[in-house]
Amino acid sequence: MKPNLEKRSLYSFTVEELRDYFKENGLSKFVADQIYDWVYKKSVFEPENWSNISNKVKTFLNENLLLTLPKIVWDGHSVDGTRKFLVAMSDGKTVETVAIPAKNDRLTLCVSSQVGCAIGCTFCHTGTMGLTRHLDSSEIVGQFLTVTRFLKEKVGESERLTNIVYMGQGEPLHNFEHVKKATQIFMEDKGLMLGQRKITLSTSGLVPQIEKLNDFPPVNVAISLHAAHNNIRSELMPINKAFDLERLLKAIRTINLKAHRWITYEYILIANYNDRPEDIEALGELLDKKDSKINLIPFNEYPDSNFKRPSDERIKWFQDQLMKRGLITTVRTTKGADILAACGQLKSEMEDKLNLWD
Ligand code: SAH
Ligand code: SF4
Repeated sequence: MKPNLEKRSLYSFTVEELRDYFKENGLSKFVADQIYDWVYKKSVFEPENWSNISNKVKTFLNENLLLTLPKIVWDGHSVDGTRKFLVAMSDGKTVETVAIPAKNDRLTLCVSSQVGCAIGCTFCHTGTMGLTRHLDSSEIVGQFLTVTRFLKEKVGESERLTNIVYMGQGEPLHNFEHVKKATQIFMEDKGLMLGQRKITLSTSGLVPQIEKLNDFPPVNVAISLHAAHNNIRSELMPINKAFDLERLLKAIRTINLKAHRWITYEYILIANYNDRPEDIEALGELLDKKDSKINLIPFNEYPDSNFKRPSDERIKWFQDQLMKRGLITTVRTTKGADILAACGQLKSEMEDKLNLWD
């Protein structure tokens, strides 16, 4: 059955909105809580299996709301446990979603917020695609739910998603309202009940939206810094020409750290480019030691990219130098290299293949 794009998706409602929706339509508002329980707590997505929901409500839902989830059209499993998914929305547009295991049974889902991205960072494969469209909140929540269903059906109880990072395709703050709504849904007590510390929002530095973060659930904030000099940052990230480092840091100081705790700075390390002693000096001067954490990301090489990943020794040296200056610094381990888990890579590879098969 072809989904009706005119219908609103069930997965775009917060509990409160769903209660109101039922009330407005002459149905009991408590049904909202029961449906939330089936979908988000029990991971049962087929209305025919919702045993305490009346046929009247089921008919109403089928007629008025879209109940289908985004479809997994490809999945890959890396030797390190990372699972990568290509997920198709109801209009056939695809995004990638990656489930990354970590210690203490953590399983983090890296979700996309847009199809493509308008920011155009030169090191990022997604950036070369341009923006096709925003995802709506149900399509962001849908990535989580469709992967949950996949794990439940294909893997079993051993793997359950525990964390979310907005580090897939797209710039989440460019799609502020939908990402905010999706985050509220992820955090619902009646639903997934993900705590604010389990969710991380990563942004390339959209200053006006950073200044609006006090109107966003108080999740972890990561800023894609990647350079501590304006000329290098502008080469890597065109957004720096609109909002340079001074404006970015000023905006970051408006974030309420009582709620958001600290700021993580992501820094992609590129060989012979931003891995020099002067970069360490500049980072030391730029960042507040008390409220900052640096996450070094060794550049993930892909075909056609001119940048190279530094050696492991160089990465370790860069980390040690920052630590010596009092900056808490971690190195992100490369995950899923064998299944092209870097930002944007799978999608283009797969689309090339899919086109060949057409
Ligand atoms: N648009 C937001 C959200 C995440 S972008 C942002 O830029 O912050 C996806 C993530 O992948 C970012 O952390 C980005 O720094 C990283 N990334 C993109 N291309 C990469 C590459 N070639 N190697 C390593 N990390 C990359
Ligand atoms: Fe967009 Fe982030 Fe990629 Fe930059 S790094 S192009 S902001 S997805």
